[in-house]
Amino acid sequence: MTKITPQPGILDIAPYVGGASQVAGRTDAVKLSSNENPFGPSEAAIEAFRRAGFDLHRYPPTDHAALRGAIADAHGLDAARIICGVGSDEILHLLCQAYAGPGDEVIHTEHGFAIYRIGALAAGATPVEVAENERTTDVDAILAACGPATRLVFIANPNNPTGTMIGAEEVQRLADGIPDTALLVLDGAYAEYVEGFDGGAALVDQRDNVVMTRTFSKIYGLGGLRVGWGYGPAHVIDVLNRIRGPFNLSGPALAAAEAAVKDQAWVAKCRADNRRLRAWLIDVLEGHGVPCDPSEANFILARFTDADEAEACNAYLLSQGLIVRSVAGYNLPACLRITIGDEASCRRVAHAIGQFKEGAR
Ligand SMILES: *Cc1c(COP(=O)(O)O)cnc(C)c1O
Repeated sequence: MTKITPQPGILDIAPYVGGASQVAGRTDAVKLSSNENPFGPSEAAIEAFRRAGFDLHRYPPTDHAALRGAIADAHGLDAARIICGVGSDEILHLLCQAYAGPGDEVIHTEHGFAIYRIGALAAGATPVEVAENERTTDVDAILAACGPATRLVFIANPNNPTGTMIGAEEVQRLADGIPDTALLVLDGAYAEYVEGFDGGAALVDQRDNVVMTRTFSKIYGLGGLRVGWGYGPAHVIDVLNRIRGPFNLSGPALAAAEAAVKDQAWVAKCRADNRRLRAWLIDVLEGHGVPCDPSEANFILARFTDADEAEACNAYLLSQGLIVRSVAGYNLPACLRITIGDEASCRRVAHAIGQFKEGAR
């Protein structure tokens, strides 16, 4: 037996399993398992990425000033209080590393994003799971779970994998009610899909205990480049910048993200298409006897009779070259999470689920 062991907590982390991307023997498979933008990134982002290829011998800037400036312009924020990371995952990890350790508690919701628990355990802290109310964040339950050891409270709004969201008054109530020693983290990975929603930025501006995280992986269609950002009070951004790797983001990633955030017309187009196709898909699935919660994001959570039926439907969809996400690992064994694809993909999924329900079983 080796005497070389990792820090406590690390071996409690189950390795993250991403959405599958291939079906053996099929070339026409559609990946609807990772909430990617089916239309890809803005043309301007692709062009900026190509141009950045000519400067690969140069180290990238460490301050991300151009990208922070472009984000601040697009959202009306203070560029000095923006931090950019390798996906929002890095920001979430930095928050755990900086603010939680052994003996501290990190709250996340019942069906919350896996990284909150992973980040807490990696920092040696104790993750605390709080029940939701009908797959929706329950502010009272979170407040009841808070105590003197609470250091971080993570909610995604809209949430993944449920797609539901809570309103500004509820978020404010959460920020007001958590202990003085805790930070509220608003994960806005899907914020751009909600028309007119600021992801919680206004609340961040009003307080010293709220941080917002955002990503270029979802509506911006740049998941392959790994760029995310955070917006918070000056004291938090200062702390995170001390532990952030100085060259965490590559030149091409910075260039593409900057061009992407400047192309808000592309974002608006993707938001509108997603909204239309999501409403259509929810409607058709309900007609097939598969209810879905109202989703504010670029995916839906389809509910089956039980875990067996969800698993059988998942197998049937796979046999049709349709890759959706099993969410049994998120404690939702009777559900499947389906990313809103382009129109053809949505039609294929709707058709296949209809066939399955009618007796392909
Ligand atoms: C996809 C997703 C993210 C984004 O992760 P990146 O590291 O930015 O790709 C963050 N939070 C939630 C809830 C997500 O679903």
